[in-house]
Amino acid sequence: MALRVTVWNENVHDREDPRTQAVYPNGLHGAIVEALQKHLGDRATIGVATLEQPEHGLTEEVLAATDVLTWWGHVAHEQVDDAVAERVQRRVLSGMGLIVLHSGHLSKPLRRLLGTSCALRWREADDREVVWTVSPGHPITAGVPQAVVIPRQEMYGEYFDIPQPDELVFISSFSGGEVFRSGCVFKRGQGRIFYFSPGHETYPVYYDPHVGRIIANAVEWVGAGARAAFDTTTCPNSPTGWFEKL
Ligand code: ZN
Repeated sequence: MALRVTVWNENVHDREDPRTQAVYPNGLHGAIVEALQKHLGDRATIGVATLEQPEHGLTEEVLAATDVLTWWGHVAHEQVDDAVAERVQRRVLSGMGLIVLHSGHLSKPLRRLLGTSCALRWREADDREVVWTVSPGHPITAGVPQAVVIPRQEMYGEYFDIPQPDELVFISSFSGGEVFRSGCVFKRGQGRIFYFSPGHETYPVYYDPHVGRIIANAVEWVGAGARAAFDTTTCPNSPTGWFEKL
């Protein structure tokens, strides 16, 4: 069965900023969906949800039918309903994979799941970013060169206020000399979370084939965790002899 992916975008720059519309005429979500379709083909069925929809498009029913949620947000984090953020958090704890992209580092679901401010340093000045693989053999790095060069990108730098990642997959360096933990895995409950920083609303980063490959690999890897999850919402009493009856 194909992985059920929901691509979430706050869809504000996309509707209001001509600079974003020039780079992403189909929205950031459109470019992300295209990259996933290219790399995953019929291994994924992909839906889109956006902030302006009722319940931001993330109803209980949608999330229950989602193996992997990708999240892009920037200027409207505070407009996300706390109840929806809590719902996403709960689904991750019960196994749904979550991929948080770029400025989603300050999103409510990620901050709830990590428990820190997730603040970082940044600069918008056409830096060159090099994304270095530091976990060769990790499924998220499959088919990705050891150094991916992104010619123009927003700089994201340390200190990045996150808990120590469970796995550090990529580190980026920038032409200004900064470094950044740009690909981080966290495990919360049964859910796998991948934070990936490249991607900004005025740079064409989501069209980069290596970036697309990384996000697609991440969808498959966090989605495998969702497939392996089981129901932990009930903790029944275990009478004597229950094990023998299994
Ligand atoms: Zn940005």
